[in-house]
Amino acid sequence: MKRLSLFKIFFMTHIVFMTILINDAIFRWSGISFYMTFREFLPNLAMMILIFTLMAMLIAVILKLIEILGKSITKRLGIAIGFGMLYAWSFLVVVSVLMVKYLKFWIDSFTSVPYWNIFRFVVLVMILVCASVLTWKLRERLITSITERLKPVFWVFLLISLCSILVAGHHIFQRGGQASPSPARVSHVDSSKPNIILVTFDALSARDMSLNGYERITTPFLEEFVKESHLFTRFHANSNFTTTSLASMLTSKYPWAHQIYHLEGVSEVIRKENLAKVLRENGYTTMAFVANNAVNPLQMDIVKDFDILVPYYKMWFPSRISTSLILIASRELDNYFYITRRWLEFYFHKIFSWGDTANSEFPIHLAFDSFFDQVTTIRKPFFAWIHLMPPHAPYLPPEPHKNTFAGKLEMASSQAQQNFRWGPYPLSQQSEIDSLRKRYDEFILYCDAELKGFVNRLKENRLYDQSLLILSSDHGEMFERGYYTHGGPYLYEPLVHIPMIIHEPGQTHGTQIDTLSEFIDLAPTLLDYIEIPIPKWMEGESFLTVMRGGTPSTRFKFSMWFEKNRSLNHPITTGTVAIFEGDFKLIHYIKENRSELYNLSVDPKEEHDLIDEETQVAQWLKSTILERIQQINATRMESRKRKNEPAITNEK
Ligand SMILES: [Zn+2]
Repeated sequence: MKRLSLFKIFFMTHIVFMTILINDAIFRWSGISFYMTFREFLPNLAMMILIFTLMAMLIAVILKLIEILGKSITKRLGIAIGFGMLYAWSFLVVVSVLMVKYLKFWIDSFTSVPYWNIFRFVVLVMILVCASVLTWKLRERLITSITERLKPVFWVFLLISLCSILVAGHHIFQRGGQASPSPARVSHVDSSKPNIILVTFDALSARDMSLNGYERITTPFLEEFVKESHLFTRFHANSNFTTTSLASMLTSKYPWAHQIYHLEGVSEVIRKENLAKVLRENGYTTMAFVANNAVNPLQMDIVKDFDILVPYYKMWFPSRISTSLILIASRELDNYFYITRRWLEFYFHKIFSWGDTANSEFPIHLAFDSFFDQVTTIRKPFFAWIHLMPPHAPYLPPEPHKNTFAGKLEMASSQAQQNFRWGPYPLSQQSEIDSLRKRYDEFILYCDAELKGFVNRLKENRLYDQSLLILSSDHGEMFERGYYTHGGPYLYEPLVHIPMIIHEPGQTHGTQIDTLSEFIDLAPTLLDYIEIPIPKWMEGESFLTVMRGGTPSTRFKFSMWFEKNRSLNHPITTGTVAIFEGDFKLIHYIKENRSELYNLSVDPKEEHDLIDEETQVAQWLKSTILERIQQINATRMESRKRKNEPAITNEK
């Protein structure tokens, strides 16, 4: 067979790349559509198509070079390798594997077909045999018949690539330059006000901290630290999920008000109303060191409210090539195509984390180092929000914390842990899940040790006595009841009971506060503390009075999860809401119209459902939830009518 033209190689690589992208785009859109209109998504898709087209070109050139080089080498060696046939055969195999993969994906997402295991192998062998037979039968004609038959497909794909240049170009032109912080609107700055340092851990459950009586010693430093701080023992996250919960913390609004229910959630509400913005307008220098990209201010579209924003990837694995690549790609894409950026990251990680045996991902000290790098030069007072990935999965505690609770070989690597899917698990897997929990607890031990170092550095830098230091988390983690990790329909205590520790400047005595309080109360408390008026739009209440020994209010507290509800002005029809009142906690599953009631003071593990015993309390709490939902849905319908949006239901 004569040499393959570069065009024909590109013809094949482009078809492969576009096939991958189209399926991926459909899959992503099904999630992204919850919070974004297709118009907003389109430029990101166009950018992704352009990147994939360029990649297809690059791969084609590389394959061509391999062919030229390979031919000259094999010629000298006297062997004849048909590169044309080899490439055509590979094309047949790759396209068939993709087709089967997609078919499996679409079948799986509609029914509950079990994972293919043995079939996978059989199918692969069948594909290899069929492709080989076809290649052999067609031999000389193979390339011609592929290019002839797939010509229309190729030209349609190429046309899509060309149109993408227009769409992406138009978007860049329209969006203009980089977003920079908006000017703070205060004439004089009161430098006597304390700094605010808020450290939040991702997925730190209060239930796994020895500070709260957990059997494994996971928080020895914090046990000392609370002797000179306020410890809240009944503090709840407003959701069981990162973005939703932290959006509540920042906006002081319940999830049903800010409407950020999903991983990549953004909403008009947080852009207009958030804690950083208020602090900034009142003269505070605002800084964010957020290691989880899902809640990075960039992701939440609140960049303008931060004077200093350290990119999340600087707080990831600093030494890897993947990080540098992400860094280069991110810098430009962040400004215009942040969905594309996340999308690419997914591929980068897939490629570069393969075979990775790193012991600790997301080292905490990188975030703390970034903080100390910035803090010396900025104008005070400042607000610094440091959000750390640990103890979030994968649980990879470094030495000397590793193997404190688990055996050397128990769930020791990221790969071993990845075999366990997040979400429901069969109870037969409980012993493995218990092993995972040991690693999680070791990871908490690591967090605790790093915090100790952080507090010492604050003291060395003379910041400890000038700052209000807050330690908390976004949600918990679950290893029980057949549910692993977080998110999902459950709102049990391991998922929503989070730590809240506050150290006031110069505080020498500790207090324990057993009053019910929640994440949305934090922002008003901070403003109350530094004597800045609390805006009316904040739904939480300041717990400063309680910190000072005053009587707590009797307001209801809520936690909720709504991932299956569209957040763009659509009524709430599915999801779970928990309400806390005194010792009682009622969990209501909206779609199933089913509730559970627990008395947390006598049954902290939520094992005895009182729904049929305490009927009056249950009725009262349930109707409170339903009334609130009804109000919210009425407002949604109203605003939708105003916008004249077509109705979309959530029913499948
Ligand atoms: Zn989280």
